[in-house]
Amino acid sequence: MQLSRTEQNYLKAIYMISASSTEAVEASTNAIAARMDTRPASVSDMLRRLSDKGLLNHNRYKGVTLTESGMQQALFIVRRHRLWEHFLVHSLGFRWDEIHEIAEELEHVSHPELIARLDAFLGNPTEDPHGELIPGAHLQMPHRHTKPMNSLISGEHARVVCVDEGSDVLLKYLDEIELRPGSHFHVVSVEQFDNSMRIRKKDGSEWRITREVSNSVQVERLDRMP
Ligand SMILES: [Zn+2]
Repeated sequence: MQLSRTEQNYLKAIYMISASSTEAVEASTNAIAARMDTRPASVSDMLRRLSDKGLLNHNRYKGVTLTESGMQQALFIVRRHRLWEHFLVHSLGFRWDEIHEIAEELEHVSHPELIARLDAFLGNPTEDPHGELIPGAHLQMPHRHTKPMNSLISGEHARVVCVDEGSDVLLKYLDEIELRPGSHFHVVSVEQFDNSMRIRKKDGSEWRITREVSNSVQVERLDRMP
């Protein structure tokens, strides 16, 4: 099925909205409009078009969900995006705060053989540079349990799993303090008045982490520091 760039962006946006929400599986028109930075009226037209192509289930009151075929299309776009990000960092030497915008372009090249060869060339990576999972060749998304860093309490140990790629400035900052996927740390204390936390990393360095930062980092709690 040939899909326009805009159609692909909608499918990905709908996938991201349902993947990030803990309750509703439906993506509402307003949530899609916000994500696509457009008016709800133009969203409705596009949703009708994608339903006509069998990619969406449209529930007038709740919003939309992806059909099996829509889900496959969305996961293939996510797969392409994350493989290219991996390529940009590991093969071309880009920094992780430089790659998202480029991958937004590259993800639209959907030639299956190109993507299969890119995957093989990179050694079938399972995570992109931000720690996000890359859907496999059969377009399955593995399940993973993470929690936001800001839900940790004083005394807990954790490992960074993935970080929000949305802000270049945040990524640069995390790079500076070397808090990346795989980093281990211990929560020394949590400040009650602004929820900022003091962490100690494995190398012994201590950092104060604001709530804004800890909101954008997903972690896995550890029983103890490895
Ligand atoms: Zn990205």
